[in-house]
Amino acid sequence: MPTANPTDARAPQARDALFTRIEERRDDLVALTQALIQIPTINPPGDAYTDCAELIGRRLAARGFGVEYVRGVGSAGDSDRYPRTNVIARIEAARPGACVHFNGHIDVVPPGQGWTVDPFAGLVRDGRVYGRGACDMKGGIAASIIAVEALLESGLFAAGALEISGTVDEESGGFGGVGHLARLGYFSKPRVDHVIIPEPLNVDRVCVGHRGVWWAEIETKGRVAHGSMPFLGNCAVRHMGAVLHRIEEELIPRLARQRTEMPVVPEGARQSTININAIHGGQREDHDGLPSPMVPDRCRMVIDRRYLIEEDPEAVRGEIVAILEDLRRCRSGFDYELREVLAFLPTMTDANAPVVRAVAAAIETVLARPAQRVVSPGTYDQKHIVRTGLLKDCIAYGPGILDLAHQPDEYVEIDAMVQSAKVMALATLDLLAGGG
Ligand SMILES: [Zn+2]
Repeated sequence: MPTANPTDARAPQARDALFTRIEERRDDLVALTQALIQIPTINPPGDAYTDCAELIGRRLAARGFGVEYVRGVGSAGDSDRYPRTNVIARIEAARPGACVHFNGHIDVVPPGQGWTVDPFAGLVRDGRVYGRGACDMKGGIAASIIAVEALLESGLFAAGALEISGTVDEESGGFGGVGHLARLGYFSKPRVDHVIIPEPLNVDRVCVGHRGVWWAEIETKGRVAHGSMPFLGNCAVRHMGAVLHRIEEELIPRLARQRTEMPVVPEGARQSTININAIHGGQREDHDGLPSPMVPDRCRMVIDRRYLIEEDPEAVRGEIVAILEDLRRCRSGFDYELREVLAFLPTMTDANAPVVRAVAAAIETVLARPAQRVVSPGTYDQKHIVRTGLLKDCIAYGPGILDLAHQPDEYVEIDAMVQSAKVMALATLDLLAGGG
């Protein structure tokens, strides 16, 4: 009867020993998640980034990693008061080989209202760790660190390199974080081969990409006049009402019919969508007392259009331009300006890419159920890695329930963190051995 070679990293005994090591680190995993939550890295404005980056950097330096801090100098929001501090840690095995990189964003959104627990205490209750960023995504960062540490101690890390980064500003576009590092070559071959981003997509799902996004600001123009004689002016708010009417009557029904082959979750996002993100017309309201009677000469609206891999980005812009141009032709006194605020193309990693296969196989081993391949409705830092770093082998995989992200009483389940750490460690072993 053939016996498995005990030095074979993928032998069942080696795998079980690795899983035991991760289970033994359960308390350490919880403590690390709490410590990360207790640093309130709120974005905006970008609080305490350096403290959080240094927590990760100090821990990994003590385990033999080379640690670098790279500030996103010149990016939006970067200042001496709020430095955009990123941390990148790397360790190499005795023999050369592939590099597996875990990237997590350290920033969290503001807590908002409605919490029943302290959002920055890291409370542990009923098998969960609570706090802003618990699932999005400090629990995922902690799970990846524990996975990598267990792998290092197992003696199975014989070839290749491991990297862990903690990066800033994902919630506001990632330009000072992964975007900045990607431009400097941190997310390109030959330095890195495979990237896993532990965003909260649930323990049994591999997220292969995201829809595209196009944000724009539309401004309608008019002319001021006394509010008692509106016929002497030109009301920019009414013009914007006409734009909204066309979006409501024509565009939204059309978008609802555009279904995608991308496996986007939740189901409602498996089509094109548009959100009216903000609208403002007329006088400012941040004052006491009554307003003056004025016909508004400016109205601004921000739209957030999410689109599919089957759609042409130019056509996405073109459908808004067509509405505006048509109104200019047929509506008396209508004039507008259109400004692009933000644009990212859709991205979707091939279903047969090594990192997709390795993580899916590891999910099936650890959870004994099939892995689901999904696409995220919103973008995340994968866009910078794929578009700027030109690295195609990138996915998101991590513990936590996506729907809890940005909500009050956000939490991550400890069992899910332990399971996902096993998946990450096993997939990493597979990728380092040239699998996937
Ligand atoms: Zn996130």
